[in-house]
Amino acid sequence: MLKLYNTLGRTVQEFHPRNPGKVDLYACGPTVYNFAHIGNLRSYLFEDFLRRSFEYLGYEVTHVMNVTDVGHLTDDADEGEDKMLKSAREREMSVWEIAQFYADAFFADTDRLNILKPQVVCRATDHIDDMIKLIQRIEENGFTYSAGGNLYFDISHFPSYGELALLDRSDLKSGARVAIDPNKRNPQDFVLWFTQSKFGRQAMVWDSPWGRGYPGWHIECSAMSTRYLGEQFDIHCGGVDHIPVHHTNEIAQTEAATGKKWVNYWLHGEFLVMDDAKMSKSAGGFITLDSLIDAGFAAMDYRFFNLGAHYRTQLQFTFESLTAARSARLRLIDRVAELMKAAGTDTSQALQEESGTQARVTDIQQRAGSASSYLDAFRNHLEDDLNAPRCIAEVWGLVKDDRVKPSDALQALSDMDRVLGLRLISEAWSKLEASREDMLTPDLLDLIRRREDARRERDFKTADEIRGILKDRGVAIEDGPNGTRWKKL
Ligand code: AMP
Ligand code: ZN
Repeated sequence: MLKLYNTLGRTVQEFHPRNPGKVDLYACGPTVYNFAHIGNLRSYLFEDFLRRSFEYLGYEVTHVMNVTDVGHLTDDADEGEDKMLKSAREREMSVWEIAQFYADAFFADTDRLNILKPQVVCRATDHIDDMIKLIQRIEENGFTYSAGGNLYFDISHFPSYGELALLDRSDLKSGARVAIDPNKRNPQDFVLWFTQSKFGRQAMVWDSPWGRGYPGWHIECSAMSTRYLGEQFDIHCGGVDHIPVHHTNEIAQTEAATGKKWVNYWLHGEFLVMDDAKMSKSAGGFITLDSLIDAGFAAMDYRFFNLGAHYRTQLQFTFESLTAARSARLRLIDRVAELMKAAGTDTSQALQEESGTQARVTDIQQRAGSASSYLDAFRNHLEDDLNAPRCIAEVWGLVKDDRVKPSDALQALSDMDRVLGLRLISEAWSKLEASREDMLTPDLLDLIRRREDARRERDFKTADEIRGILKDRGVAIEDGPNGTRWKKL
C-alpha cells in the first residue's frame, strides 16, 4: 500500500485515488523569464520521481504542468519591475520571445535529466479566459471586493484560510503585520485581477469585466488545473516555498469558486540549499544545469545526486558532493557493464532493446531467485513515502550480490530504472560499445561508419559491398531495430 506525506494534515497517509488505478497530478511549472537553476530542477526531479513511481506501481497518471509565461504573475509585491520586461530589455527580445526562449531552455534541461514530459503542458497566456471565468464565479459567490482599481480576494469570508500552512487565524485577523498594499482589508488578501499596474509599464494586458489589465499571481494554477483535471483531483505538488502563500491562496480561491474540497493530497519537495541559503531565481547568481555540464559533469550525475536524498529533506549542494555522486554513478555503470559481459552479448542486447518502459516486474517475480527479493524491498521503499535513498541502496545490494544470476540482476535493474530514470542499461551498453570500438582498427571503424552512411542514404548496393569487405577482414555486421552491430568472426 502506497503511503505519502500529505502537507494538508502533516501526516503520512495511505494513498487512495479518486478513481481506482488512476492518478491526477498537477505540478506548478516554471516561470520563464530566466533559466531554471538546479534548485528548481530538484523540484521537477522530485515530481518526475513521483510520477514514475505511480506508473511503476501500475497507476495511469495524468500529469499537468503550467508554464508561467507572464513575468508579473510571479509575486504579489507592489514594487520592483516586471521580470519578463526586465529580461526582455536585457536580451533585446520581446516578452513573447523571452517566454519562448526560456521555455525551450527549460525543456532542454528536463530532457537531459530524463524527466518525462507532462501529458499536458499549458501556458498561462493561453488560458486568460479560463482565469476570468473562475474569477467571475468567485465574485458571484461573494468572496471579492474592488479597491484602487483591482479586484481582491477577501480571506475573511473563507473560514479555513491558511489550513495548509497551519497559519494562525488569530494572527491573521489582528492584522499585526503591516500590509504593503493599503487597498487590502486583511494583510493576506490577494489580487485576483489588476487593472492598476504594479509596475511602471505593462507589456501583456487583456480585457476583462473589471477593466483592461492582467490576472493575479495565483489564479492561473487554479484555472488550468481545474480545466484539465476537473474541479476535484488527487495530487497537487510544488516546492515547499509555495505552501504559505501560493498554494494557500490557490486553495482559497478554487474552493470559493466551486464550494467543494479541491485537492486531496498536497506534496511538497524540500529545497536544494547552498551555504545555508536558498537559491533564488529573481536574485540571480545561481547554478544552472549548463554550468554543471561546463564543469565536466553529466546531467545524469545531477539526477543521481538528487536520488541520494529523500524529497522531504533539504539537500545541501556542493561540488564535492556532486563529484562523489558522479564517481558512485560511474562505479554503478561499470558494475552493470560487468553484469552484461557476464550475462553474454545476446542477453545484453535484448535488455537494451527493452530497457526503460517495457521490462515488467512480473517477469522477474515468476522466477525463483534472489533478484526478486531486491525488487520487493525496492517497491516497499517506494511505497514508504518515496524513499529514494533506500531504493538506491537496494540497487547497490543487487549489483554486488554474487548469488544473483547476472541476467536476473540485469532484468531487475532495468525494471528499477523505470523509476530511477538513470538510463543504467543504455549507459552501460554504450560503455561496452566504446571499449569494443577500441578493439577495431581505425580503417575498420571507418568502413563501418561509411556503410552506416550508405544505409542512411538508402544506397544498399554500397552497403552490401562494404559488408562483404568487412566479412573478408573478419568482421560480421548485423542490422537490428536499434541500429547496426558488429562482431568479430
Ligand atoms: P519558479 O520557476 O521560481 O516558480 O520555481 C519553480 C519550482 O522550483 C517551484 O516549484 C519552486 O517551489 C521550486 N524551487 C525554487 N527554488 C528551489 C530550491 N532552491 N530548491 C528546490 N526547489 C526550488
Ligand atoms: Zn501554482
